[in-house]
Amino acid sequence: MLIVMKHGARPDDVDRVVRAIEEMGYEGRPMPGKQRVAIGLIGNDGNVDATRLVALPGVLNVIAVTQPYKQVSREWRDEPTLIRLENDTVIGGTDVVLMAGPCSVESEEQILGIAKDLKTAGATILRGGAFKPRTSPYAFQGLGERGLKLLAMARKATGLAVVTEALDPQGVELVAEYADIIQIGARNMQNYSLLKAAGRAQRPVLLKRGMAATVCELLLAAEYIVNEGEERVILCERGLRGFDDHARNMLDLTAVVSVHQLSHLPIIVDPSHGTGDRRKVPAMARAAVAAGADGVMTEVHSNPEQALSDGAQSLKPDEFLSLVGELRAIARAIGRDLTPALE
Ligand code: PEP
Ligand code: MN
Repeated sequence: MLIVMKHGARPDDVDRVVRAIEEMGYEGRPMPGKQRVAIGLIGNDGNVDATRLVALPGVLNVIAVTQPYKQVSREWRDEPTLIRLENDTVIGGTDVVLMAGPCSVESEEQILGIAKDLKTAGATILRGGAFKPRTSPYAFQGLGERGLKLLAMARKATGLAVVTEALDPQGVELVAEYADIIQIGARNMQNYSLLKAAGRAQRPVLLKRGMAATVCELLLAAEYIVNEGEERVILCERGLRGFDDHARNMLDLTAVVSVHQLSHLPIIVDPSHGTGDRRKVPAMARAAVAAGADGVMTEVHSNPEQALSDGAQSLKPDEFLSLVGELRAIARAIGRDLTPALE
């Protein structure tokens, strides 16, 4: 539920509403907007006495949020959420963000080499898994904390921000020490204890859509994170498990449009896991930007044939470089641009 204040409402009026909400046993969260202040009522169990709130001085009206997710909905807030990182990359604004890097961090030489190439190509965020959710227990599981240290080293050398996955609630704090953005993988989208831990870690969260999750379930998963106090959530479409094996997954680009209609959170697209095939990645990356994605996350590896995971879907650095030029042209054609490259 949202309590919308009149244009000229005073801070006293806002405080009074928050106190009334607290007396009823809920939490009131003031949200200053461009036109007027709204107060979100958190924890609505269906028993809120709205008439008491409407009657308070300075209150314009009370709006029921009709969607099952509340704080991430457009009804809750119409203005898009902007997420600014330490290297000044802004996610969710006009600029389209480029995140790229290997599936897994493998060695110092590998991650430093790729990071430099990606920076030159214009990416501003480096991806790379240190804790890997692998389908087989016998497959490479990642370098663990050593991988995080290498990512931090690459950030220091290039200025790229770092996004990397946390696999379990116990691992969140460690990942947060090294990462600019905590990634929650598709397999963990509905791991609610992990979502809550990530929501308390004081870092932006990249939440990947589960491989059989609806857009509504994705937004409800984001609601868990926001409800813990972390509003900086970036959603990611990475393809769904379908019936057809012509591609690894079915990349649902309509989700970009639906999420923008339903939520103020930014959404990016991962065409690497979305297709599983480097030859298909550029076309789907271009389509993602054309569809209005706030960013693209692609896997890039200097030597994909030797990659310890996901080599087949990893672009080579020169392929990534030419893709960036195409993405810039598409972004500009729809009134956007790419995030400026780092100095
Ligand atoms: C990844 O980004 O390397 C990854 C494991 O992705 P997903 O969770 O989408 O499968
Ligand atoms: Mn991967």
